Amino acid sequence: MITTYLSLGSNVGDREANLRAAIAALPQAGLRIQRVSSFYETEPVDYLDQAWFLNCAVEAETQLEPPALLRALQSIESQMGSKKEFAKGPRKIDLDILLYGQETVDTPDLHVPHSRMLQRRFVLVPLAEIAPNLQHPAWSAKVRDLLAQVPDKSQVRRAKNPL
Ligand code: ADP
Ligand code: MG
Repeated sequence: MITTYLSLGSNVGDREANLRAAIAALPQAGLRIQRVSSFYETEPVDYLDQAWFLNCAVEAETQLEPPALLRALQSIESQMGSKKEFAKGPRKIDLDILLYGQETVDTPDLHVPHSRMLQRRFVLVPLAEIAPNLQHPAWSAKVRDLLAQVPDKSQVRRAKNPL
C-alpha cells in the first residue's frame, strides 16, 4: 500500500455536493481514505475570470500504480460529467495527484509531486491541515513550512467540516 495525497476542486454547480460525490467515488476506484481536510473557499489563481473554487485535500492508501491512479481519477471526473472548456478554466470537479509515497513521476501525462503545488495556497492550506509534517525528498522543507514561505497571497478561507 502506498499513501497518496490528492487535491480536489470544484467551481461549477453545487460545489460541496461535487466534492462529496468525488470523495464518495474514491473507494470503488481503489483508494482507502485516511483523512479528508476541511473544505476551503479559494480565489481562482491561474485564470482569474471565473467563480471561486471549493477545494480540499485527501490522504488515501492505494495499490494502484501511478498511471492507473491517474486513469481512475480521470474516470471519476468524466463519470461526474466534468468537462473542461479549457485548461485552468471552470470545472465541476478536478482531481489531481499531489504526492504518491516518496516517489517522483515525470511522464508526459503525469508529474508527481504535482508541478505547481508548492506555489499554490489553495493546495498547501488543505494539505497542511491534514499532513503538516509531510515532506518529499525533492522538497527543502515540510508542508507546514513551505506554506509559511509561499509568496502566493490568494484568498483561502475555511468553509465547513466535511462528513
Ligand atoms: P489542471 O488540473 O492543471 O487544471 P487538468 O485537470 O485539465 O488541468 O489536467 C490536465 C492534465 O494534467 C491531465 O490530462 C493529466 O495528464 C495532467 N497531469 C500531470 N500531472 C498530473 C497530476 N499530478 N495529477 C493530475 N493530472 C496531472
Ligand atoms: Mg487536474
